[in-house]
Amino acid sequence: MTDLRDAPAIGLGMPRLRRIAGRLADLPVAGEKRVLLAAPRGYCAGVDRAVVAVEKALEHYGAPVYVRKQIVHNVHVVDQLEAQGAVFVEEVDEVPSGAHIVFSAHGVSPAVVDAAADRGLLAIDATCPLVTKVHREAVRFARDDYEILLIGHEGHEEVEGTAGEAPDHVTLVTSPEAVDDLVVADPDKVVWLSQTTLSVDETMETVRRLRERFPKLQDPPSDDICYATQNRQVAIKKVAQDADLVIVVGSANSSNSVRLVEVALEYGAKAAYRVDYAHEIQQAWLDGVVTVGVTSGASVPEVLVDEVLEELSGAGYGAVQEVKTAEEDLMFSLPKELRKDLAGTTDPRALGGRRP
Ligand code: SF4
Repeated sequence: MTDLRDAPAIGLGMPRLRRIAGRLADLPVAGEKRVLLAAPRGYCAGVDRAVVAVEKALEHYGAPVYVRKQIVHNVHVVDQLEAQGAVFVEEVDEVPSGAHIVFSAHGVSPAVVDAAADRGLLAIDATCPLVTKVHREAVRFARDDYEILLIGHEGHEEVEGTAGEAPDHVTLVTSPEAVDDLVVADPDKVVWLSQTTLSVDETMETVRRLRERFPKLQDPPSDDICYATQNRQVAIKKVAQDADLVIVVGSANSSNSVRLVEVALEYGAKAAYRVDYAHEIQQAWLDGVVTVGVTSGASVPEVLVDEVLEELSGAGYGAVQEVKTAEEDLMFSLPKELRKDLAGTTDPRALGGRRP
């Protein structure tokens, strides 16, 4: 077990509070209360790029800018963009002809791209480049006549987009147990790909079972589970070993946030909960808790974590130690459609997606 008691406390700066903390009582516990703050946490490069893309589109083209599905899976981000003039729709046929539409970070199938073009929409594709990489793999393996065993969650937008690249070649595998019931046309010509935001451990277990059944199973050319998902899981594994309680900031439909709760429980946290906002933390969760682990999913702005830390501070958990397991400095340039229209601007965010 990692002993983090000697790790230095960090300064957090002044959080941007939207409400007064103090709702939770500072009750005595048998030990010195503290927070272990996982790092990396929060925004990944793909989310950052997608959110900035909508903001830049609103600034440059003016409201409304339509967005197919939630641009990223976070209710706060969606609310904020809606307030700025973004209009979220489920499908392209809800968008007036000639309007701008942004495709979300989770990606879209070619059928959606074609439907938008048929409707005369001006599309900005904010699909994360790491999702696009999986799309390309699907196209290539389908062209070579492989059956693609796509590990992922049924109904998730990313899975629908990837499967839509090669619908006749993709079979969805939703869990390790589902491997037992798989029927494939040619067991010698199968490859696995995966959603980018899965549990690394569970996915490896699914692959192990797949290989047991299909020894000639081919691997993808590189990891499909993205760096951000992996880094956040590694960090929370370390924190969870020492945590009585883990709080994951993230929305219910955020796959990587939900996975962080599961991973925390698997790696030793006595309890773990997901919250969208600090006010959802319940007093009963803190009963007897000495160490609280905190992290956030890849679609969560840091202000929401700041509010959780402030709320916990009011309950006596003011000592915060950061537990860092990796550095992240990846950033992606904005979608090419936007870069073309913003060419010549002096805005430092125009060509790269990093938020200030
Ligand atoms: S979680 Fe990974 S795949 Fe998804 S947007 Fe972020 S970097 Fe891209």
